[in-house]
Amino acid sequence: MKAHDGMYIDGAWRPAAGQDVIEVVNPADEQVIGTVPAGTAADVDTAVRAARAALPGWTATPPAERAARLTALRDVLDARRDEIAETVTAELGAPLKFSQAVHAAVPIAVAGSYAELAGTYAFEEKVGNSTVYQEPIGVVGAITPWNYPLHQIVAKAAPALAAGCAIVLKPAENTPLVAQLFAEAVHEAGLPAGVFNLVTGLGPVAGQALAEHPGVDLVSFTGSTAVGRHIASIAGAAVKKVALELGGKSANVILPDADLAKAVNVGVANVMSNSGQTCSAWTRMLVHRDRYDEAVELAAQAAAKYGERIGPVVSARQQERVLGYIGKGVAEGARLVAGSAEPPRETGYFVSPTVFAEVTPDMTIAQEEIFGPVLSVLRYEDEEDALRIANGTVYGLAGAVWAGDEARAVAFARRMDTGQVDINGGRFNPLAPFGGYKQSGVGRELGAHGLAEYLQTKSLQF
Ligand code: NAP
Ligand code: MG
Repeated sequence: MKAHDGMYIDGAWRPAAGQDVIEVVNPADEQVIGTVPAGTAADVDTAVRAARAALPGWTATPPAERAARLTALRDVLDARRDEIAETVTAELGAPLKFSQAVHAAVPIAVAGSYAELAGTYAFEEKVGNSTVYQEPIGVVGAITPWNYPLHQIVAKAAPALAAGCAIVLKPAENTPLVAQLFAEAVHEAGLPAGVFNLVTGLGPVAGQALAEHPGVDLVSFTGSTAVGRHIASIAGAAVKKVALELGGKSANVILPDADLAKAVNVGVANVMSNSGQTCSAWTRMLVHRDRYDEAVELAAQAAAKYGERIGPVVSARQQERVLGYIGKGVAEGARLVAGSAEPPRETGYFVSPTVFAEVTPDMTIAQEEIFGPVLSVLRYEDEEDALRIANGTVYGLAGAVWAGDEARAVAFARRMDTGQVDINGGRFNPLAPFGGYKQSGVGRELGAHGLAEYLQTKSLQF
């Protein structure tokens, strides 16, 4: 798609307040593929005013009508799924097949789920002599990252719209084109002017202005823990609600009686997909000492198969960061069994699929989010040791448990300090609440739990 040189505000593409632009780069070949305006506080202010003006009308729109608009939005996204996939491939670098299967298909499914929920959710309930109403929280400031660029936009915009909120979106600077495509889709779907607004720009400028704006009632952020902490402090000072989807260092716990080959192969695929740029990735594989060597061998073989199949990471900065972590793993004494701290190609921001063995829980590569195709394999002595290691980071976003006996896996998962756990390879569920324990975040996205984030309650007594 062709980039717009304006902001989508109050139902139309309007010139930006300033002249600065952001260059969008294809990370696979380092070519500039377009430019978008770099918004300022003035653009954010115009967008928030448009959202405030549109809010009363949208809030008063019956849920069935909001559901109809969301169905139309889902249908437009579905009709443009090839274009979505091509756009994400161009600006993120993901292989086209993965963009089709995940970057396009998942947000279409999520938009569909909110089209349905908008029409069926109980916005009203009786509690004794009270009627409790779930009312929209107001104007939402949404700040999103680049790793699943359309999914992260839809996971905020769709429930906000279903709830009756108005939105201003500041997408990641690396992936603004699919955000513009989404704004076009909102327009085509016939959402009223001002209900959804887009301001492209840099985090510390446009993102900061959005988080600080007094006309924003809820800031919903997905990205790094460092920026999330900063945004939470701004929102806290203004006593406004905040939702945070942050990083992770999730554990893939392979209990001794598990199908080892399956657990290792699925685990490696989980880490390598999207070139490791997944907040919920199982980047720590925990294996019983009796099966450790076998697991390392299987993981190294599996990683080698991904060599030519994974895309680049998103930017030169991200490549440098990930390669730096690989160097640090070697320096701290972990054993590299696949991959390298050297870039595999001269052009494009590629990183080789990398596996470390002999990783101990105190190492940097066992504690910090790398956000690249890097797996750490750790050894445990018994189940209690595995649990201590699994819970031994500041994060708690996702995880996996594998066991021959499902009840044993469930019992282990219930003791993990984390928001989601896949049992023996359980499938992704777009209706299941997604979000973090501990420093992985505040609040939940997706399904009915994700809708509730955009509502506040009022009770009337009779
Ligand atoms: P980031 O800086 O946290 O970016 C997330 C979003 O916040 C982007 O839209 C960003 O704008 C914006 N932002 C940055 N500074 C801001 C500020 N002061 N006020 C308001 N908004 C601000 O993440 P990143 O730099 O893209 O990636 C860094 C690391 O974060 C990664 O290596 C990874 O570990 C982690 N990360 C996690 C997730 C996740 O899903 N949990 C997603 C992405 C990254 P810009 O695009 O202009 O920076
Ligand atoms: Mg950043």
